Amino acid sequence: MENYTSPWMTEELQMLADSARKFFEREFVPHQERFDEQGYIDRELWNKAGEMGILCASVPEEYGGGGGNFAHEAVLNIEMTRALVNFGIGVHSGIVAHYILAYGTEEQKQRWLPRMATGEMVAAIAMSEPGAGSDLKSIKTRAVRDGDEYVINGSKTFITNGYHADLVCVITKTDPDAGSRGVSLIMVETEKADGFRRGRILKKIGQKAQDTAELFFDDVRVPADNLLGMEEGKGFYQLMQQLGQERLIIALSAQASMHKAIELTTEYVKNRQVFGKSLAEMQNTRFKLAECKTEATIATNFVDQCMVKLLAGELDPATAAMAKWWTSQKNCEIIDECLQLHGGYGYVLEYPIARMYANARVGKIYGGSNEIMKELVARTIL
Ligand SMILES: Cc1cc2nc3c(=O)[nH]c(=O)nc-3n(C[C@H](O)[C@H](O)[C@H](O)COP(=O)(O)OP(=O)(O)OC[C@H]3O[C@@H](n4cnc5c(N)ncnc54)[C@H](O)[C@@H]3O)c2cc1C
Repeated sequence: MENYTSPWMTEELQMLADSARKFFEREFVPHQERFDEQGYIDRELWNKAGEMGILCASVPEEYGGGGGNFAHEAVLNIEMTRALVNFGIGVHSGIVAHYILAYGTEEQKQRWLPRMATGEMVAAIAMSEPGAGSDLKSIKTRAVRDGDEYVINGSKTFITNGYHADLVCVITKTDPDAGSRGVSLIMVETEKADGFRRGRILKKIGQKAQDTAELFFDDVRVPADNLLGMEEGKGFYQLMQQLGQERLIIALSAQASMHKAIELTTEYVKNRQVFGKSLAEMQNTRFKLAECKTEATIATNFVDQCMVKLLAGELDPATAAMAKWWTSQKNCEIIDECLQLHGGYGYVLEYPIARMYANARVGKIYGGSNEIMKELVARTIL
């Protein structure tokens, strides 16, 4: 949106956005094809991102972070989306760092956050299992206390950053008979964990450079003081508290993606000639782009309103769920219209709109599927 500035944007955030954009353009974009083929980015990029101050930007300086707030994570996710880069900082900095910050003991914060901020440790969160995604209460991964240790058994799948992860926040059952009160979050440092194994990097239709992997835990022993917050049975509550922020990260990316798709398509239709005139002159093109722009503008305004609420500590779960499902749905619809305006070229991967089409689809599935989001909204009205 020309001349539009988000109400939460500041000069300092703008500077962070500019340096992140340059970083993504320099370090990721030229290698995109190779990263897509191998299914992961080069590990050293995490360390470079750490040097650039791109990791844990919203973590206090005393723990090695940038000392910012969620708005810092927001601009980084927006720039990453605009550059069509797949880089799991949303999970690393926006999610796992905040679990540690919110629930970790002082010692746990000191142990992990500084190393996450430099990129020495890449973090992942492992909730989903082959048999349980939406229905998290039915997870089977078990953690049994044995003296000063927990013994973890189970398997996880679809884990973002799973291939590179050095630190995994594992959602376990410490008391299988206690339902949601039997869930605990246990941090696993993979290097020290005998019995920990990474499975396949999953081949996906989009976000190909993002490593999404299976993880296996076979009698993995971790010190008991790796239990996040040091109190068993709090995991479900901890997950619920953080979900608003996670969902907003997806919504922020989705609205940024809509504007990017419209920009790319505007450029394309101006240059494409059909029946002796510019494609931009056809009424269908003009109306379609006008519709897309209207919806993208509504999305940005709504997401910005959610951002303001979140920064004030006032974003409720149902509103975050609305933002997540609606923007991820609209993002897919808008990209589809934009792809159509590219004709056959829209289907060819060397055109960014084709990559965007595939990247966007997962937005309706992860972070809580859109059906689950609607269920959360429905519960507030029915
Ligand atoms: C690229 C990618 C990255 C991911 N990253 C992570 C990660 O880092 N960590 C992690 O833990 N997980 C991750 N996930 C997993 C993701 O969160 C799950 O895929 C998602 O929660 C859905 O779970 P599921 O795949 O088991 O589907 P299911 O739960 O089996 O759902 C199948 C279908 O049923 C619908 N459904 C389920 N329950 C209901 C209901 N009550 N009412 C109506 N419809 C319902 C769903 O909406 C969906 O359409 C990732 C997934 C992908 C694809």
